[in-house]
Amino acid sequence: MKNISYTVAVHSDETIKAMVSNCLQDLGGIEKLVPPGSKILLKPNMVVAKPNSTGATTNPLILDTLIEHLMRTSPSEIIIGESSQVGDDTLQAYKITGVYDIAKKWKVTLLDFKKDHQVYVDIPDGKVLKKVLIAETVTKVDYLINLPILKVHSQTTVTMGMKNLKGCIADQEKSRFHRLNLSQCIADLNTVIIPNLTIIDATLCSLEWELGGMPVRLNTVLAAKNVLAADIVAASMLGYRVDEVEHLFLAAQAHLGPADLEEIKIISPKKLKEVQYDRVNSKEFTFYLPGLKVIEKGTCSSCKGALLAAMQRLYKEGSSPDCTILMGQRLRDRENEFASNFKYGTVKSAKPLMSIGQCCSWVANDYPSKQIKGCPVKAEAIYRYLKTIS
Ligand code: SF4
Repeated sequence: MKNISYTVAVHSDETIKAMVSNCLQDLGGIEKLVPPGSKILLKPNMVVAKPNSTGATTNPLILDTLIEHLMRTSPSEIIIGESSQVGDDTLQAYKITGVYDIAKKWKVTLLDFKKDHQVYVDIPDGKVLKKVLIAETVTKVDYLINLPILKVHSQTTVTMGMKNLKGCIADQEKSRFHRLNLSQCIADLNTVIIPNLTIIDATLCSLEWELGGMPVRLNTVLAAKNVLAADIVAASMLGYRVDEVEHLFLAAQAHLGPADLEEIKIISPKKLKEVQYDRVNSKEFTFYLPGLKVIEKGTCSSCKGALLAAMQRLYKEGSSPDCTILMGQRLRDRENEFASNFKYGTVKSAKPLMSIGQCCSWVANDYPSKQIKGCPVKAEAIYRYLKTIS
């Protein structure tokens, strides 16, 4: 029998206000959780300027309810802080999601971490990261509340609380994470940024990928003091075990929380919900053009989004260019999949090669190919080139 030393509160099928309030109550109540007079940081997921209805960003009503509760603790300051993905505008995301209006309503500080002073933080227990550049505000608050949304992710299988903390780091670090080993970097980051409370929005979850799409209604809110515990329970709602989500597995191995579900006490008035669907193959692109082949590894969400947007446009126009697309900071790991078609600069295959983004500029030196420049690249540049060969 395992020692059950972590608690996760789960509420479903109530109003958002009731689910957040009941979760807080199950964990002891807001006055017990948050010391009076604290400087509090709320970290939602505003990765992209898309509303919660897409399943990509945190529901603003969760922030609204939470702030209402927090006001009872007489906080010295409440700050909402986030940095959208590289190339996206955080303020725009705040406005489109409705978080901007919530901040205005409660007169709390709204901060774009991209514009915050950045400081290096040492990671003594990091396996691949030894230090990381993060927004200074994260290091200056008394109480951190992590407010992720549950959704699938093209590289980390699912994303919840631990992955959401990546929004605290500088943009250049986001690229470095992808280059090094995203899952290990997330686990390492979580040894130094440790939220006091994590509330996961599982009301509407994107099953397509991290930037929204195919949203399913789970109408659930989860909360826990330990972020890994919250993530393990949330991942199970999408049918994933700890050992199937690499960053959770690595965090469990580093003893950042429970090893699996058996070490977690779930407080829930109902049986835990599970999404009923054939698990989305989130490792691959879910949108295909028959002539296009994509070989990628370690691609940032912004470049993936640009490619998908270009592909969707071509699809609508009935175009399907014959091309092999190469992308991602770890493309070298898959070089053998296209190298065999080329020898000493002589094309043996009729399919042209196109590399996308700054991180793949080496392809143009080593192989006869077209390079689309940028970091991240623009969907239009990809579209324009593919159109010329359609
Ligand atoms: S080019 Fe794209 S995939 Fe490569 S580092 Fe830049 S944003 Fe990431």
